[in-house]
Amino acid sequence: MSIIEQIEAVLEKGSLDASPESRYVFRTDTTKFMGNPDVVVNVRTENEIAKIVSIASKNGVAVIARGAGTGMSGGAVPIKGGILLNFETMNEIIKIDPKKKLAFVQPGVITDDLRRSAREFGLYYPPDPSSSAVSTIGGNFAENAGGLHCVKYGVTSRYVKGFKFVDSSGIIQKCGVYDEDNTFPGAFVMIGSEGTLGIVTEIALELIDNPPLYDTYITYHDSLLNAIATVIKLKGTAINPAVIELIDKDALKAAVTYTNITLPENTEAVLIIKLDSYFLPELLEKTILIENIFSLMKVREFRKAENEDEERSFWDMRKAVSTSIKKISPDKMNEDICVPLSNMYSFIESTRDISEKYSLKIVVYGHAGDGNLHVNILFDKNNKTESNNARLASEEVFKKTIELGGNISGEHGIGLAKKNFLSLQYSKNEIAFMKKIKKAFDPDNIFNPDKIFNVTKG
Ligand SMILES: Cc1cc2nc3c(=O)[nH]c(=O)nc-3n(C[C@H](O)[C@H](O)[C@H](O)COP(=O)(O)OP(=O)(O)OC[C@H]3O[C@@H](n4cnc5c(N)ncnc54)[C@H](O)[C@@H]3O)c2cc1C
Repeated sequence: MSIIEQIEAVLEKGSLDASPESRYVFRTDTTKFMGNPDVVVNVRTENEIAKIVSIASKNGVAVIARGAGTGMSGGAVPIKGGILLNFETMNEIIKIDPKKKLAFVQPGVITDDLRRSAREFGLYYPPDPSSSAVSTIGGNFAENAGGLHCVKYGVTSRYVKGFKFVDSSGIIQKCGVYDEDNTFPGAFVMIGSEGTLGIVTEIALELIDNPPLYDTYITYHDSLLNAIATVIKLKGTAINPAVIELIDKDALKAAVTYTNITLPENTEAVLIIKLDSYFLPELLEKTILIENIFSLMKVREFRKAENEDEERSFWDMRKAVSTSIKKISPDKMNEDICVPLSNMYSFIESTRDISEKYSLKIVVYGHAGDGNLHVNILFDKNNKTESNNARLASEEVFKKTIELGGNISGEHGIGLAKKNFLSLQYSKNEIAFMKKIKKAFDPDNIFNPDKIFNVTKG
């Protein structure tokens, strides 16, 4: 029997799809990388997944999990062909337990659907990647996704209290709240492992009380240095903002050109800052303190949103950056580096030097509160010189990041996009150790092969 026939025999009718159309649709994510799955399975149950993995393992065939395909590092791209498990069909919020403040979800649940459902119980699931309207909890788990509110509340891993996964032998493993007495703590290394260690089939996530009160500010700065100094000052206080987003001048220029947004003249950088609280006196205290800090830091101008419409206009500006960049440049490399706050200014300045050196626009914005910046190198892939320069410029961006004590991926993961740069950040010994973990979980290298690094079988 062929592999497809073997898989078909263990599935419900209609789950397997080897049509050229589906195989075409699932070739890629948001990156330029392209694969070609041999077959797509619209997964429905963990038992089915266990049987598929068993077959794959016996036949040495690759198994690639896919959430919504919003990944920005090529994680869900079936570069070696194989069986693509589409989790869009396994998208049930199984239970929200308000007493234990836990949500039990299938991996295909859309992030915002969980956030909305939690709110119905007065609860809150903080991790909010900007893709949260589309991305899945399984993809967030596998990439350890961050987001706007993570500066205060932490990234996905902070909320994972347990999960079930299918291991390389096709056995369903349970950990955390699913098996409190016998959990192997080492299994938690699965979070952020980009689908390379197993297939996650259910996740238990902690929810917290929803902070009902908030205020949102926008600040306009004469200089980038002033904006970053303000971020650093804020981080050193008890204000503990829920969001601190930075938009640098070229990113602002793009947004202003293609939207109705207006800015005070000569604005060099903008911050959008959200404060939240459970208690009104605390929120009022925070607003007094933050406005004092704005005066102390000589922030050129600031506004507190007076109503929902005004608040939305602040976020619209943030969202406009990414869409406007697409209009000014046919192609972009979007790197998601992280640097310590104390080096954020030097880092952004160095991107300006790199931009000049390679005659390419580099636009910077992002989650400044935790040093996680989106560095967009703009180019035209049909122009050979620009393509080549963009590649060299991104390598310099990574080198500078490491030199300044940073990290080549703040949230998008390594996947295919950054695997060639892994050795800039990690020593040979560290990478060898990571490979040992991969081999221990997946000796036949069937799970998402060739992502993060290449390993040989056995
Ligand atoms: C406009 C935009 C904004 C974004 N903003 C952010 C942001 O603010 N923060 C952030 O962190 N990311 C962001 N991203 C990147 C992306 O949305 C995240 O990485 C997200 O977590 C991917 O989820 P997904 O469901 O699309 O996963 P996919 O792209 O489908 O897959 C991502 C990885 O997860 C693995 N995977 C999926 N399901 C499973 C499973 N059940 N078991 C094992 N492995 C699995 C895949 O194999 C792959 O390696 C953004 C992307 C876009 C397009």
